[in-house]
Amino acid sequence: MSLIAQNITGILNELNANTKLIAVTKTKPLEDLLEAYQSGFKRFGENKVQEMTDKYERLPKDIEWHMIGHLQSNKVKYIAPYVYLIHGVDSFKLLKEINKEAIKNKRVINCLLQIYIAQEETKFGLSKEEAYELLTSEAFGQLDHIKIIGLMGMASNCDDTEKIRQEFRGLKTLFDSFRALESKSISMKELSMGMSGDYHLAMQEGSTMVRIGSAIFGSR
Ligand SMILES: *Cc1c(COP(=O)(O)O)cnc(C)c1O
Repeated sequence: MSLIAQNITGILNELNANTKLIAVTKTKPLEDLLEAYQSGFKRFGENKVQEMTDKYERLPKDIEWHMIGHLQSNKVKYIAPYVYLIHGVDSFKLLKEINKEAIKNKRVINCLLQIYIAQEETKFGLSKEEAYELLTSEAFGQLDHIKIIGLMGMASNCDDTEKIRQEFRGLKTLFDSFRALESKSISMKELSMGMSGDYHLAMQEGSTMVRIGSAIFGSR
């Protein structure tokens, strides 16, 4: 078994039954993705539209492609035909554009709202209040080709496990409270939190999707 396949198997064995693994393949060559694919793994995450689309075109079509990075409205059209889940939705403008492109492609695109949980300047995302306002707005109610199936967040990049745990816990609490908003376009099923350095903590706090790159493919 290849090293990549071994790493994936090792992580899968650690995950709870209700936590899915997204293998984050950004910057990694096609051969690495193929190695994972040939071991039976088909769920990949990328953070750049161009790179994800290039890889999509060159690889087998039964792969689930997860857009985990910051997405610009003008690039939605490139991924709309095939993207499986967009993790980083952080504005109504972006959601409206995703809806428009989903209509063109005659599909419903599943999305997660990215929530700002870390006390760091560099992280994208909505505040909890902004997310609530978006989900309860009249304009949101009119988008019928998108579905919000959960939330995504990134904890502070630090060694303070208690702080990271609290950030994940806060996101889980919000996720649970949003279950009350269930509608045709909202169904809180997926909580995308946890990366190579903090996925054990994330899982303990209720993550259903961990996005892991370097622990599988090595450092970038
Ligand atoms: C790169 C990236 C990851 C994976 O990070 P690792 O530390 O390599 O596991 C997860 N989520 C997002 C949004 C990323 O950009």
